[in-house]
Amino acid sequence: MSSFSFSSWPPALNDEQLEALTVYATTYALSHGLIYLPAVASQPAIPSSAIHAPLSLFPSPFPRRLFALARRLQTTYNTLYARIATDVEFLDKVMGSIEGVGKVDHFVGQLWAGWKVLRDEGGLVQQPLQLGLFRSDYLLHASSTGEPLGLKQVEFNTISSSFGTLSQRTAALHRHLYASTGYYNVYPGMKSGAFPVNNTTAGLVEGLVAAHTAYNVPGSKILFVVQAGERNVFDQRHLEDELLEKHSIHVVRQTFDQLASSASVDPTSRALLISGTEISTVYFRAGYTPTDYPTPEHYATRFLLERSLAIKCPSIALQLAGGKRVQQVLAEPGILERFLQGDELVLLRENWMRMWALDEVNGVARAREDHARLVLKPQREGGGNNVYRDSIPTFLDGLPEAELPAWIAMELIEPPKGTGGYLVRSNAGAGAVKAEVVSELGIFGWALFGGSDAKVKEKEVGWLVRTKGKDSDEGGVATGFSVLDSVLLV
Ligand code: ADP
Ligand code: MG
Ligand code: MG
Repeated sequence: MSSFSFSSWPPALNDEQLEALTVYATTYALSHGLIYLPAVASQPAIPSSAIHAPLSLFPSPFPRRLFALARRLQTTYNTLYARIATDVEFLDKVMGSIEGVGKVDHFVGQLWAGWKVLRDEGGLVQQPLQLGLFRSDYLLHASSTGEPLGLKQVEFNTISSSFGTLSQRTAALHRHLYASTGYYNVYPGMKSGAFPVNNTTAGLVEGLVAAHTAYNVPGSKILFVVQAGERNVFDQRHLEDELLEKHSIHVVRQTFDQLASSASVDPTSRALLISGTEISTVYFRAGYTPTDYPTPEHYATRFLLERSLAIKCPSIALQLAGGKRVQQVLAEPGILERFLQGDELVLLRENWMRMWALDEVNGVARAREDHARLVLKPQREGGGNNVYRDSIPTFLDGLPEAELPAWIAMELIEPPKGTGGYLVRSNAGAGAVKAEVVSELGIFGWALFGGSDAKVKEKEVGWLVRTKGKDSDEGGVATGFSVLDSVLLV
């Protein structure tokens, strides 16, 4: 489909066809675990019902070349972030609480200070290996000056990168819907090769297995640290199932609150024990946001896990490496050369938007002047934290000077206009809602690193698309802005 026109998408089905396809989609989602726990005030201890995850009825068109490029870049990103996480001097400077972000951001400051104490005590030398399960996020960029469509990075996630297993199911859903209906012959000429395979579940699990295998203690288990009342629990459960069924590895799920009483570190071996069971790998699906640490005891639990022999996914260092301020500093002249050489470096830079720190000389003045084309970002994850366009000047009026180092300014990516989609959310059976949409591509990868040979074992393992109405600035499925989607390669 070389002559693909973005504005001709999605197929023009009549109402009857649309309803039939939507029923097909939601029933497929419910029967294949593309699901969420329902929104209720408090989740019952024993769940008895689920809703389908918010989803896009049709896949979203994405240029084949740029999709391949994003997947190819992942290997470089895996290596880059592994090297950043092992560069203590660099992280101290950017994220530390003496001169960096941690000085003004309480959350970053707590994590960094705890990490520093452990380093000074020699508490981290027992386990040099670290595991990252990453997701690098991109938008298509159609610049106003008429350059060809490009790929631009939104951010790089080093902790709790979610929706791997549900995105695999969304890709399968879209392939299935086309195979079964042919979209009622409304859109002839579509090739089955337009629906790429997505095996993210096996890929992410391969990363966890690599860590577990390196730890090499028979009978040990993997710990999933989770949030209480997590609605996106099935995205995690599919990983657990694969670990057990394909690799005979057991998983223990615990919240920070539970770990406060169940976790201990063996004084001699430093093994992490949960109610007596040894843990090989700690996989965090919690701990990325300040609300996960309501008391000092919650930080203490994190630091207990950190100083154990178990391999952390991620370590505190790797979590800090994923900060927005690190992303911005990497874009400063000469910094990327500290970590990478050659063509890789050029390829990465081509995917970056202009960024600067608000505490730079004229940083605030430039942000005010250019606000219509900018987003401001703090050091937070999980969506809903950014400040966009017209809200920027007023926001800056109220931002104390002391807090400037915690914020970066980033030029807005301008996705192609005019692409339509149908968003299907499970609210009261409202059906498929047509909208002009913007799609964000995420590429998953893992890296196991930190050993004495300085090697980074890594792999690109799959992808995700999240689609939102074009007037929504934020993305995020868990936060209710986006729906799960997949690509139609064009
Ligand atoms: P978080 O870690 O909270 O997910 P992001 O950097 O991904 O933070 O920002 C959240 C959302 O804001 C993104 O999913 C995207 O939709 C939007 N966004 C972020 N940066 C940009 C940008 N430079 N241009 C356009 N949209 C952006
Ligand atoms: Mg993020
Ligand atoms: Mg994001």
